[in-house]
Amino acid sequence: MISAAILPGARIGVLGSGQLGRMFAIAARRMGYRVHVLSPDTDTPTGQVADVEIAADYADLDRVRSFARDVEVVTFEFENVPYATAEAAAEHALVRPAGAVLHVTQQRGREKQFLAAHGFPVGPHALVHSREELLRALDRIGVPAVLKSADFGYDGKGQRVLRKVEDAESAWRSIGADSCVLEAFVDFALECSVVAARGVDGAYADFGVVENHHVDAVLDVSIAPARVEPRIARRAREIARDALEALDVVGVLCVEFFVTRAGELWINELAPRPHNSGHWSIDAALTCQFEQQLRAVCGLPLGDPSLLRPAAMANLLGDLWLEADVAAAKLTAVRVAGQAVQIMSGVLEL
Ligand code: AMP
Repeated sequence: MISAAILPGARIGVLGSGQLGRMFAIAARRMGYRVHVLSPDTDTPTGQVADVEIAADYADLDRVRSFARDVEVVTFEFENVPYATAEAAAEHALVRPAGAVLHVTQQRGREKQFLAAHGFPVGPHALVHSREELLRALDRIGVPAVLKSADFGYDGKGQRVLRKVEDAESAWRSIGADSCVLEAFVDFALECSVVAARGVDGAYADFGVVENHHVDAVLDVSIAPARVEPRIARRAREIARDALEALDVVGVLCVEFFVTRAGELWINELAPRPHNSGHWSIDAALTCQFEQQLRAVCGLPLGDPSLLRPAAMANLLGDLWLEADVAAAKLTAVRVAGQAVQIMSGVLEL
């Protein structure tokens, strides 16, 4: 395995240029790699710390091919890079995780079908392509339910909660997509996630189970380790391992779960990259999630993901630099709520 490894000094390509890419680029540069980034924008969070920043549309496949020719391996900082872009890059460089992983995880309908077909636990759901299909699905699933656009959804965007059947018409119209997923509204006891990595040789490592609290469908606070029964923690990690295996992931992938009131685990969604719920690993794990992604895509041995101590992450959105007391208050709330939880990191979302 080591002979095929991509070693420090090599060039790593990143598609996507947000803050996750920035943290990946910082980890890569710290380990001696060079980073090239391609996205439609300039002076991006990732570009500011990369060696080379290329502004090109993801659909400009000639630019994507020449970008790939200059690097040894291409990875992603977000899953909504078109599949054709990943395939064009793969003509000239290793692409990890493979485009097929993006293809499944970037579309809620395909992701749900993949999970259900492979026997993974998911909540009641239906794929709907018209108002009529939506009404039929509501008949079966009941209310409350959540209608989500199948494409390009994250953080509750493109989602409507249906409290009664009569909400169907306005929800369908306001989402305005011709492919949606209808899900039963889960009255969950808790949300949690497992950020995991899989190497070129199939080696697996995860950061344990993290407890997540959302506000308005956006992650607000993560606590590691999650305060769940050992049985649930064991099962969540087993499911994560099986999901990375089933998708043949090389890289990092986050599995987000609902823990139902009956103590069952249902997968909510997959993100084939480092995840906000893993940011605490920068300060509180032996290897952080970004170094782990780098190690996986370069074919290096995976790092030890052990927690050094319990940790929490508060997601501070917007222009809070001058409002330190907001951050402090949020973190204090986590400490009070978490009793034994020690506050390690506050990550500011840019
Ligand atoms: P998503 O973008 O699908 O990850 O949704 C963001 C958040 O919205 C989740 O983490 C939940 O807090 C909430 N949510 C999404 N789907 C459901 C559901 N079917 N039932 C209850 N809450 C949900």
